[in-house]
Amino acid sequence: MSRTEKYPAQHKYQQSHKEYYNQKHREYYWKNRKSEEYRRKENLRAKENRRKLKLKVFTHYSNGTMRCACKGCYYSEHDCPIEFLSIDHINGNGIQHRKRVGTGNFFYFWLRKNNFPDGYQVLCHNCNQGRQLNDGVCPHENK
Ligand SMILES: [Zn+2]
Ligand SMILES: [Zn+2]
Repeated sequence: MSRTEKYPAQHKYQQSHKEYYNQKHREYYWKNRKSEEYRRKENLRAKENRRKLKLKVFTHYSNGTMRCACKGCYYSEHDCPIEFLSIDHINGNGIQHRKRVGTGNFFYFWLRKNNFPDGYQVLCHNCNQGRQLNDGVCPHENK
């Protein structure tokens, strides 16, 4: 006589428990697999959206050139990697304005939401920084 036949109730209990845990394990696995995949896809989508938005903003404010607006800058005559470009407030109160609308992506969102208002230009980070440190005039223009 086998154990199973001897203790049918216990065997049934063990079997159903095993099923239960297997089921739980499967659910856990699928749930996490799904959410991880989901998160990865969401991240990719968000990244792609940010890239597109940035491209749109810089294309608009550089009139499609993707170059620095500073005449004395190397990147006014050469293509500038988008990573080196920034949006500059022409009237010079960029810092205060950014504090109000946020920086980076929030700022780009804000520009798009407001239908790309006038008063901004594309500068490379060097010229943007240079202007801020030199009372609103890029050191290139002092030459
Ligand atoms: Zn520049
Ligand atoms: Zn410059």
